[in-house]
Amino acid sequence: MSEIIPHWLQKQASVSPERLALETPEGTKMTFRDLHEAVDASACRLASLGVRRGSRVAVLSHNSVEMVVLVHALSYIGATLILLNTRLTVAEWSFQLQDSEAELLLAAAKYEQQAKATPVALQTIEMLHEQPPQEYTCCTELRLDDVFSIIYTSGTTGNPKGVAHTYGNHWWSAIGSALNLGLSQEDKWLSPLPMFHVGGLSTIFKSAIYGMPLYVTQGFDEEIVQTAITKHGVTIVSVVTVMLQRLLRLQEKDGITYPDTFRCMLLGGGPAPLHLLEEAKTNAIPVFQSYGMTETASQIVTLSPEDSIRKLGSAGKALVPAQLRIMTSTGLAKPDEAGEIQVKGPMITKGYYRNPEATGAAFQEGWLATGDIGYTDREGYLYVLDRRKDLIISGGENIYPAEVEGVLASHPAINEAAVIGQTDTQWGAVPVAFLVKDKEISIEDLQAYCQERLARYKIPKYWHWVDGLPRNASNKLMRYKLQQKLEEGNA
Ligand code: ATP
Ligand code: MG
Repeated sequence: MSEIIPHWLQKQASVSPERLALETPEGTKMTFRDLHEAVDASACRLASLGVRRGSRVAVLSHNSVEMVVLVHALSYIGATLILLNTRLTVAEWSFQLQDSEAELLLAAAKYEQQAKATPVALQTIEMLHEQPPQEYTCCTELRLDDVFSIIYTSGTTGNPKGVAHTYGNHWWSAIGSALNLGLSQEDKWLSPLPMFHVGGLSTIFKSAIYGMPLYVTQGFDEEIVQTAITKHGVTIVSVVTVMLQRLLRLQEKDGITYPDTFRCMLLGGGPAPLHLLEEAKTNAIPVFQSYGMTETASQIVTLSPEDSIRKLGSAGKALVPAQLRIMTSTGLAKPDEAGEIQVKGPMITKGYYRNPEATGAAFQEGWLATGDIGYTDREGYLYVLDRRKDLIISGGENIYPAEVEGVLASHPAINEAAVIGQTDTQWGAVPVAFLVKDKEISIEDLQAYCQERLARYKIPKYWHWVDGLPRNASNKLMRYKLQQKLEEGNA
């Protein structure tokens, strides 16, 4: 029997109707009552388009108040939400729409032309209000076992997989985050992360569940984020590494520090280079490092700033309702021993949509095998090393490409770096670097730079200058594409 809770937004509109639910840099402000009314009105328009309980509706949009309204409206109707990444190609959208069996695509007008080429009925979000309203049966309760959303993984290691999240996954993600970060009446959360990724989407539910205003920006603009923190009372911002980098640059340029009310810069999505964390510390930015994935409905491991000095580079400990373990081929890893990161908890998906094979491969005795390698130290703090698929074993030694890339990219002449393994008759495999340069630099100088910072076996044996690195729509490095290039002899 699935557990049932009252609909989180209707609950908030009833207990704190006057509280601020949404705010934008353009000056829009909506209370929870306003939001509930807008959501109900939007649900009526969707109903007239034929959306019913159990319908499957895809949304293709940048972040906006309308997108927040739509997400809630689909849950008022009891439909399933499929989120599409705006940066994908028509072919990629079409695959995800078909794979998720979407019946309708709601797209922001700026994507209308491309969206027309997908095989699904299209409605632009901006024109939805022109639909005549129609009565619908509003879901006043949420069954925690019901699937609400499907989000595709980033496709960093291969084809994206559709992660099905239940209401319970989102609920427990919000609760776990609150238990770790704490809740304050003053909180106002800004997520410049796209809402089509789970990190951005999760802030919509957190707002409704906590009764907390969401500061909605279209995308990431460091000036807007800085102003939101310094002038508009934003207390929490979710970012990925490059956003933090740009915020730091701006902060230094403007010579400002953030007010004490700013209490959390939640950093996730990928590895964070140590020099960046140190810089954030110097600038008194309270960075919470975190680790998570689409499958875990947002962060599942978090490091608080009190520990960030002592445990620099760690992603922290599992959230209160979650567990973490490290497995080697022979069983549980000892402290400091690297192995696969496995996680367990009620925020973790029950599986990939219509993909029992991938689901079966991902779970072991109720634990999600993340495909990432890491270790926990003696105090149980997690350090993420790299993806298992990308590990290079050279002469019996493990090389984590992320570590070598971090060193290479910290050189002032290097813009970006990627490291993969190349088969080698003597060593089994050796590291190979692909580099995008900022300024002229010789390989000899780079080798010397690496020698001061890396063990000998980790220093790349072959070097390739390239104009750019293959990145997916989430800006993540797709090392497997470089591997293909190398194998085809095109490097
Ligand atoms: P796919 O599963 O399709 O290959 P993906 O794993 O990149 O794509 P996401 O769910 O967007 O898709 O990303 C989650 C991954 O991001 C994690 O499994 C991990 O590899 C990486 N990651 C997240 N947080 C961290 C972190 N703090 N340190 C290092 N890596 C991280
Ligand atoms: Mg993944």
